Amino acid sequence: MRFDVVVLGGGLAGYTAAIALLEKGLSCALLSVGQSSLHFSSGSMDFLRALPDESQVFDLEKGLHDLARQDPGHPYSILGPEKTLELAKKAETAFASWGLEMLGSLSAGNHLRLSPFGKLLPTWLSSKDTVFIPADAEGRPEWPWLKIALLTVKDFLDFNPEIVAAQLKAQGRATSCHMFTCPDLEILRQNPSEFRSVNIARVLDQESNRPFLTEAVKKAAQNADAVFMPACLGFNRPQLAMELSKEAAKPIRLIPTLAPSMIGARLNNQLQYQFLKNGGVLMSKDRVVDFNLVGDQDDSSGSSALTIERLHTENHGDIPIIAKDHVLATGSFFSQGLLSDIDGVREAVFGLDLVNVPESRSDWALGEFFGSQPFARFGVKIDAQTRPFLKGRVLANLKAAGLVLGGFDPIRQGCGAGVAAVTALAAAEAILS
Ligand SMILES: Cc1cc2nc3c(=O)[nH]c(=O)nc-3n(C[C@H](O)[C@H](O)[C@H](O)COP(=O)(O)OP(=O)(O)OC[C@H]3O[C@@H](n4cnc5c(N)ncnc54)[C@H](O)[C@@H]3O)c2cc1C
Repeated sequence: MRFDVVVLGGGLAGYTAAIALLEKGLSCALLSVGQSSLHFSSGSMDFLRALPDESQVFDLEKGLHDLARQDPGHPYSILGPEKTLELAKKAETAFASWGLEMLGSLSAGNHLRLSPFGKLLPTWLSSKDTVFIPADAEGRPEWPWLKIALLTVKDFLDFNPEIVAAQLKAQGRATSCHMFTCPDLEILRQNPSEFRSVNIARVLDQESNRPFLTEAVKKAAQNADAVFMPACLGFNRPQLAMELSKEAAKPIRLIPTLAPSMIGARLNNQLQYQFLKNGGVLMSKDRVVDFNLVGDQDDSSGSSALTIERLHTENHGDIPIIAKDHVLATGSFFSQGLLSDIDGVREAVFGLDLVNVPESRSDWALGEFFGSQPFARFGVKIDAQTRPFLKGRVLANLKAAGLVLGGFDPIRQGCGAGVAAVTALAAAEAILS
């Protein structure tokens, strides 16, 4: 089987690179083993929340320049602040054209979203139906609403209204709590392990359950400026919260729940849909089990480079997959793009060179759980064209993108989705050039 490009990994980075390449007319196959970290994320996309000196970022352009000085090994710094900005703006346009209805922009700076525990967190892009709070230049919230009704599904364990209400009250919001259910939810609830956000959304998205939902929303909205609900509706109907807003004549907005994340899973589905719509070939539940490399001369640096000649995968057995170029977007430890065992840490597919891995295993983690964990920065080393290295030799027809890369801490720096989107578009550009 021959393709222009084979992408390994079906998360934000893999799909972003693949769709960008398909749009330019390249044939593209995407292999993915399982769910991506989007399924467990807030669904909001972080670009840059904090610098290594712990200062918070709200002006994203300035933040990138500060980052380049403080953290030259960060993927944004390797690409350069100007290039990163250009690619991030392209990502905003691309997401909108792919049907991801997101609010926020680089030029506006970070806005604030609510965590599942009601904490305000700065972020770059949030789905249109989620709680979006503008921030001033110092990051202070500019709340559009004073009186908030929290409307939850009865006995839904992945969202605690009391904790969220306490946080909202601490923010000076007058908050009331409400609950509702309907006969179909009561049936679903009989199996507690199934009573999760995406399954609840599949019930609430049904037209037959709309009267229960509308009635509950209207009731909660009576004495409120806005109604916040856990994100367990709108999975197959992304406009549902907006439709309810019209019916209740008040904004109805969603708050991410504990994982699994309906908003994140919906984003992943939308990306997959775009990929297939553009003619991509999806090889799901498949992985590379063998590959063949040949030596070559790298044109740009004159150094000795390697080229991937063919791949073999679990499901395709002895049928080789041959591509001119490849993108590695297999994620970090969470998605098993990186593996660790008693012998050390390794990139799972090709055994690529890694950065930031200390010699001594005792330096991999800090005792302080919430500290800036060294292992968060482990990952693949790349050059400015997103090409990785194997034993010091560049892999000329492989680009790496997203969380598999090293040199950044997506949690402490709040930059996971931004790095995924920007490096994916950088990889696509490098392939196209
Ligand atoms: C639990 C969690 C929550 C997060 N929450 C947020 C958030 O709220 N906001 C934010 O901005 N960032 C968040 N992040 C960071 C997030 O990882 C990035 O935002 C981004 O989604 C990463 O995308 P990715 O495509 O690089 O990797 P992933 O999303 O990890 O996707 C990698 C994909 O590759 C597949 N794969 C792995 N190995 C192979 C293989 N050998 N062959 C084929 N496929 C393979 C995996 O199954 C997976 O589908 C979170 C991360 C985690 C782990």
